[in-house]
Amino acid sequence: MNQVRPDPGYLALARSGELERRAQGLRLRIRACDLCPRRCGVDRSAGALGYCGGGERACVASHNAHHGEEPPISGTRGSGTVFFAHCTMRCKYCQNYPISQLGHGREMSDLELARCFLDLQKRGCHNLNLVTPTHYSHAFLSALIVAVEEGFRLPIVYNTSGYESVEILRILDGVVDVYMPDMKYSDPDLARRYSDAPDYVERNVEAVREMQRQVGDLVLDDEGAARKGVLVRHLVMPGDEDDSIDALRALSSEISPTAYVSLMSQYFPAYKAVETPPLDRRVDPVAYGRVVEWMASTDLRGWIQPLPAI
Ligand code: SF4
Repeated sequence: MNQVRPDPGYLALARSGELERRAQGLRLRIRACDLCPRRCGVDRSAGALGYCGGGERACVASHNAHHGEEPPISGTRGSGTVFFAHCTMRCKYCQNYPISQLGHGREMSDLELARCFLDLQKRGCHNLNLVTPTHYSHAFLSALIVAVEEGFRLPIVYNTSGYESVEILRILDGVVDVYMPDMKYSDPDLARRYSDAPDYVERNVEAVREMQRQVGDLVLDDEGAARKGVLVRHLVMPGDEDDSIDALRALSSEISPTAYVSLMSQYFPAYKAVETPPLDRRVDPVAYGRVVEWMASTDLRGWIQPLPAI
């Protein structure tokens, strides 16, 4: 069942000492933190907290084999997810808000985090799936070095809101195999109102372009599991279906006309959405159908969730 895979790119970086050099660089950066576009400038190594609320050590809510991701990510044996607590965004509708906004999780040393990675490999997972890792990229690289010494070899999936700094992504070049960014919005005003991130659209397009430069369109292996590439996620929001089309158009015209997309209809009002119209309802099936139709008229590929029930 476990076919022979080529060595992951980070192995050569680890053997040459380059991974340690990059990890050290990131550890220095949290002293005036600029790991994400917020650029808070706080010294997390001295206990200060910035916008995201993440400290020096990674805070982890859970690690598990996950079977509910897209087919090439979950595969047959599950995706090895590590859910990081805290977030660089404030999405009013966040379905993981106890983890992202309330910070539910446990702080871990690099060694403990490395053990999570190794445990997921031992369980036979197809990959290591880092969920919302942006504000802990320093801890992730440090833990990866420890895990590699103990035989860790899984491909790495970087599962992110897509609110990323290109400068930090360049440090991850050759480390991450699969980028799975959201492209949440096309309208900066929606990004401001719903996620408190007025520069999201600009940073997001730059970031996904950099991801595409590093790993290209998604490539699957003989088992249909993602080996390398970009898989963009887009959650259609109630009342903003035209913005969905504009976001996908930006992907198609500015990044890759043949990109892989996971189009999602699963939105439901969570967290503060219940008091924020039009976020307080589900997506209209007719409007969702228009997004699906538009996507089908392009060369974008991927996975489309069925229409929501009325
Ligand atoms: S990672 Fe957190 S502390 Fe660092 S710049 Fe972003 S929001 Fe601020």
